[in-house]
Amino acid sequence: NPTPSAASAASGQPAAPVQQPVEILRVSHVRRGFNKTQGELLVLDDANLSLKEGEIVGLLGRSGSGKSTLLRIIAGLIKPTGGEVEYLGQPLTGPAEGVAMVFQTFALFPWLTVLQNVEAGLEALGVGARVRRERALKAIDLIGLDGFENAYPRELSGGMRQRVGFARALVVDPTLLLMDEPFSALDVLTAETLRTDLLDLWNDGKLPIKSVLIVTHNIEEAVFMCDRILVLSSNPGRMIAEIKVPFPHPRNRLAPAFRQLVD
Ligand code: ADP
Ligand code: MG
Repeated sequence: NPTPSAASAASGQPAAPVQQPVEILRVSHVRRGFNKTQGELLVLDDANLSLKEGEIVGLLGRSGSGKSTLLRIIAGLIKPTGGEVEYLGQPLTGPAEGVAMVFQTFALFPWLTVLQNVEAGLEALGVGARVRRERALKAIDLIGLDGFENAYPRELSGGMRQRVGFARALVVDPTLLLMDEPFSALDVLTAETLRTDLLDLWNDGKLPIKSVLIVTHNIEEAVFMCDRILVLSSNPGRMIAEIKVPFPHPRNRLAPAFRQLVD
């Protein structure tokens, strides 16, 4: 078969541009220190990464290496002392619409119901009450919380609470989903169920998300979930390695085996 450029040369037409995946996120030379009584602690020194559309990328590093700090910078919750973060080609200077985050310890409002917690994700966007309710119910249904709308977080298991955390992130239709050790507070079986459910939604194209960045210190989880894994060193945090998960991806083999085990 002729290549497109050979074909277009033959027909005199200009070559069709090669479709490059859209860059969702770029982190360049990010530094961040914290003031401590004994002086400044440099946590991140020259953190770099790029996320393309369609990728699930893992950020792996020891406890204290600055993973949460980097994620909070990308979420616009804290500022870097140096370097740049670009989201969809624009410099990021605070929380961006289209970037949502899931936290390790769920961070739910205990005095609000499931439905109210999920709706709270939309409040900052100024969405009207009726649409807020509609979208919250859709996110609740998608993540498997149907029937728990009026429950309070304390009445739910850890896995169900984290599903609320996911629904609250998904309700804003995020382009980029950040997750900070989202499964590490859950028992292994619950964690595996939630990971598999999430990957199923992703693979079936049921999530609005275009790319995912998962912070973890769990290597198996990173290999199971991610297309690419970045490794952050400690003291100070720098990207020291990149691991490409081989094809065929282990999750294609592991997920069905896990389903058989629990179903
Ligand atoms: P990780 O998520 O990889 O475990 P963190 O980003 O939470 O690491 O923390 C990295 C280092 O930065 C730790 O030594 C922590 O004590 C310090 N740190 C994080 N946030 C703050 C803060 N708000 N004030 C002071 N020190 C902080
Ligand atoms: Mg952390």
